[in-house]
Amino acid sequence: MDFTVPGEWVDFGDALLKFVDREVAPLEHEHRALLSSERTVYAPDGRFSPEVLALRRQVRMRSAELGFYTALSPESLGGGGLGAQAACYIQERLNAHVGPDRPLVQTVVLPSPFTNGLSPVLKHLDPAVLESVHDELASGGKTMCFGLSEPDAGSDVFGMRTRAVRDGDHWIINGTKQWITNAPYADYAMVFAVTDEEKARAHKGGITGFFLPTSTPGFSVPSVIPTMGHLGGDIAIVSLDAVRVPDTHRLGPVDKGLLVALDGVNAGRLSMAASCIGLAQWALTQAIEYSKVRKTFGGPISNHQAVQFMLAECAMDIYSAKSMIRHCAWLVDQGQPATKEVSMVKASATEMVGRVFDRAIQVHGAMGLTNELRLEAGYRYARTLRIPDGTSEIQRRTIARQLLGGDTSI
Ligand SMILES: Cc1cc2nc3c(=O)[nH]c(=O)nc-3n(C[C@H](O)[C@H](O)[C@H](O)COP(=O)(O)OP(=O)(O)OC[C@H]3O[C@@H](n4cnc5c(N)ncnc54)[C@H](O)[C@@H]3O)c2cc1C
Repeated sequence: MDFTVPGEWVDFGDALLKFVDREVAPLEHEHRALLSSERTVYAPDGRFSPEVLALRRQVRMRSAELGFYTALSPESLGGGGLGAQAACYIQERLNAHVGPDRPLVQTVVLPSPFTNGLSPVLKHLDPAVLESVHDELASGGKTMCFGLSEPDAGSDVFGMRTRAVRDGDHWIINGTKQWITNAPYADYAMVFAVTDEEKARAHKGGITGFFLPTSTPGFSVPSVIPTMGHLGGDIAIVSLDAVRVPDTHRLGPVDKGLLVALDGVNAGRLSMAASCIGLAQWALTQAIEYSKVRKTFGGPISNHQAVQFMLAECAMDIYSAKSMIRHCAWLVDQGQPATKEVSMVKASATEMVGRVFDRAIQVHGAMGLTNELRLEAGYRYARTLRIPDGTSEIQRRTIARQLLGGDTSI
């Protein structure tokens, strides 16, 4: 295999980082009073404050104007279609450069790959409907959310209680979605509902995807769910009360919604893993620099073998996850099956970044526990990643099922 990074990706990465440094960082600096405290980042109900939302929109739209926002989306949707390897390389560079906890950068400069922007899930939308929303999604002017999970259906998707019932050339959807990223702010929602009880009970399909404006009567977001010590956030509960959706707004064929959803989820897993590599590199860089300047017992702590080992273990962790991801993205770009590989990469990278932040905090001593250096925020963020887009246990379940089903190549 040739691991040489093509010049085109390097140029893209350079330009993206320049954009962040020249346009986003100054904006963060200008609004640092607003952005430095969660009490002003979030409104009392946990939603981003209107000022933060306006800034996020401004950055999104500027990123789109410069061609970054949709560069990683499929070509068939009008995106840059750079492919999985390029997407991983670029996510990794962005995250290694900016680190964690930058509300104007993370998932704004580059959208999360399936819940926003020109999501691959939109390939399953009726062409006329897609055309009517394409430009506003591509420009970053409007955003989406992806509603699969429910209070009683996370890992076990077939536990879904949301129902869609046909009513002439429409569907009526009733149910509750939970943990839905960007739901409080989204203009459109991709929502999945049971359309055939028997098939769903037998785990043989029976779930259909729908695309709808969040302004549709009956769609509401009753509450945001703050997690991991935050005062607010972007994951929320969605209530669907007799929401009427035209059949033309279906995502893919009736009863085949899970295949549609997986199209997005798989892209999300790889991208999340790549962002973990970048974040882990960022944390290791902080730890290396600190270890050279912090002195104990008459010399820098980098002289102590125990500290050196922590740095070395971080590097070993990052290198192995990075090698896995490069290979997996290559398989995806070749069009080869990569079900167990994507799961291995998602589980490994999200677990790896937790270990690296843990060690980076340890190297910083008490300083690591403050949020001066954003290590503490990174540690909390890293901890969240083992749950969305399939938990670590569900990834292992997928890997084992593939192995036991005969896919034993490694
Ligand atoms: C930050 C964040 C953002 C999210 N964004 C979205 C979103 O935009 N859209 C969306 O639809 N969902 C979203 N989710 C939901 C996410 O996909 C679910 O939380 C996840 O699938 C796990 O489901 P659960 O929380 O119900 O846990 P459960 O399924 O209840 O699992 C609980 C525990 O049991 C384990 N477990 C369950 N089944 C098995 C099994 N068969 N074998 C072994 N262990 C098992 C799990 O691994 C876990 O440890 C998000 C979640 C988070 C945290």
